[in-house]
Amino acid sequence: MVSHARQKVVILGATGSVGVNTLRVIEQFPERFEVIGLTAYRNVQLLAEQARRFNPGKITVGRREDAEDLAVSLGMPSVQIGFGVEDLIEMAALKDADLVVSSIVGAAGLVPTLAAVNAGKRIALANKETLVMAGRLVMEAAARHGAEIIPVDSEHSAIFQCLAGEDKKKVRRLILTASGGPFYGLTTENMDRVTPEDALRHPKWDMGQKISIDSASLMNKGLEVIEARWLFDIPVDRIQVLVHPQSIVHSMVEFVDGSVLAQMGNPDMRVPISYALSYPDRLGTGLAPLDLVNKGPLTFMPPDQERFPCLSLAYEAINHGGLMPAVLNAANEVAVEAFLDMRLGFLEIAEIIRKTMSEMDVQDYTTVEDVLRTDLKARKVARGFISEQVKKY
Ligand code: NAD
Ligand code: MG
Repeated sequence: MVSHARQKVVILGATGSVGVNTLRVIEQFPERFEVIGLTAYRNVQLLAEQARRFNPGKITVGRREDAEDLAVSLGMPSVQIGFGVEDLIEMAALKDADLVVSSIVGAAGLVPTLAAVNAGKRIALANKETLVMAGRLVMEAAARHGAEIIPVDSEHSAIFQCLAGEDKKKVRRLILTASGGPFYGLTTENMDRVTPEDALRHPKWDMGQKISIDSASLMNKGLEVIEARWLFDIPVDRIQVLVHPQSIVHSMVEFVDGSVLAQMGNPDMRVPISYALSYPDRLGTGLAPLDLVNKGPLTFMPPDQERFPCLSLAYEAINHGGLMPAVLNAANEVAVEAFLDMRLGFLEIAEIIRKTMSEMDVQDYTTVEDVLRTDLKARKVARGFISEQVKKY
């Protein structure tokens, strides 16, 4: 039997859907993993439960008052409690950490993930927004600091697995699969009336709110195309999307000789998460085997970019280059938030993003500060368009 040193793990965004699933995997392998740091934003209660169970040396939350309350209610003097962005950054670069799981949602993940990259960590990356906003900068920093980025996103994990031992120069295309989300069968007219509740009911995956809305608009797939462009260093014109409603084939790689490799499995995030935790090893998680006979036929079709314009907007943004993907991401985050608050209709999400992209005069960037400035500006512009939209009612 091979013996492994116990890996010290930090989880950024431990209370989210990916964070919780990561801890479910880790809990199965106490001899392999030791949790040394956990972070949350507002969900202090769940973080406290996790701290009791995993006994990390450090935890952080978003706000000072939550940190102070937690110090009292947790009653674990051995656990250091921090708050705010500074402490989050420190956690991401923790000296003892062997692996940092980046599972904060949205633009808030960029700065801490970059801190882990600059500290030369191995990173299990779920936060796709990091690569959408600043992919070139992050990948260059990773190369410079010897940081290793292992994808958690199921499509990218699939591609990563299909590329193991292959020469990247021999790749012809990457084929990302998309479930199509809960609205794929609807007409545009019917989509105009959907509620946040409808959008949060994903047919195949159980995920956080923001990514569930992104899946319903197909923006998630757009963000993933950009994520793949940077992770695998391949031009976007060689990244194709296919709608595959059964969510069994998680993505594919086509090589120059015509061979296509696919990675398959049940739609359960614990599969790509466990691979990112143990790579290049595999963990015997005992998850349910894939029953292909009873999954029915596997089908594939081209995405309908007319009914789902967010996907084309993402291609447009990455083809434009520079900071345009950061603008796309910021406008999307603001629009999704407005949709969740019922201040914006579902179809207007794409409208807001389109208007914000054409309004902004974007340049190339050199530093993360450039990216953050553009992110803020784009949010402001998008909010302006949203309030105009609201006035129409
Ligand atoms: P979630 O909303 O369930 O959890 C988000 C986590 O981020 C929480 O722990 C929250 O406390 C933390 N957080 C939120 N705002 C923060 C802030 N401003 N500062 C610090 N922490 C903050 O999200 P999720 O569904 O787990 O997704 C996390 C990331 O993983 C996203 O980028 C998503 O696109 C990606 N991802 C998720 C899934 C999935 O199955 N959920 C699959 C693939 C990729
Ligand atoms: Mg995905």
